Amino acid sequence: MANRKPFVGGNWKMNLHADEAASLAKQLVDSLPSNEKVDIAVFPAFPYLASVGAIIKDSAVKLGAQDFYFAENGAYTGEVSLSMLKDVGVEVVLVGHSERRHVLGESNALCNEKTLAALNAGMEVILCIGEKLEQREAGQTDAVNWGQMALGLAGVTAEQMSKVTIAYEPVWAIGTGKTATPEDAQKAHAAIRNFLTFAYGEKVASGVRIQYGGSMKPGNAKDLVGQTDIDGGLIGGAALKSADFTAICEAAIC
Ligand code: PEP
Repeated sequence: MANRKPFVGGNWKMNLHADEAASLAKQLVDSLPSNEKVDIAVFPAFPYLASVGAIIKDSAVKLGAQDFYFAENGAYTGEVSLSMLKDVGVEVVLVGHSERRHVLGESNALCNEKTLAALNAGMEVILCIGEKLEQREAGQTDAVNWGQMALGLAGVTAEQMSKVTIAYEPVWAIGTGKTATPEDAQKAHAAIRNFLTFAYGEKVASGVRIQYGGSMKPGNAKDLVGQTDIDGGLIGGAALKSADFTAICEAAIC
């Protein structure tokens, strides 16, 4: 099995104003483990990217953005480009988070445009995938994940896959307090890796990190990241508390 370095992301979503974001960033810089054993990124809201970036600069924590638009510039009112994100120090971007797909209506085609644009701009990408409850109950978990990867990764080369992380986030588990059992999550992650093997070959697939996301907290992180194909987590609610996020990052160092 490939020796994959775990990767933990803290998605702050539309939470934390300037002082709260700065205070959390300062606490994380003081408390998070060294980046030799785990990769860590935080994803503040757009207005605080620069200020949080200044605090975490030179620390183990990378700056991430929750969204962006794929065009380079122009008449796209309200949107933010990749080069603007680069200007303020962003190194990694989320694509296809379930809230963007299911609340804001983003399609697989748009996720694909974003993935390609971000990789071409030299960014790391976390492509989020996952099934809704009714799809899970209909036995469609793997089909949904494979479809979102096939469409979201269309045109991504094997070489570019070294900059891609997949976040498996069952929609019914995000922000609900419900978590997939470690066994169920591992089953889905193994199927995701099988897809990557089919698409890119075993060598590439075994190097791709697959995060679990969905109500991961200090109490369940160890059991989840202890699974063979779970390489860290994408964390929402628990990323807003320094102690909880730090405990999850420590649990990811197996
Ligand atoms: C997320 O926002 O990606 C997420 C997994 O949220 P939570 O940890 O709150 O379920």
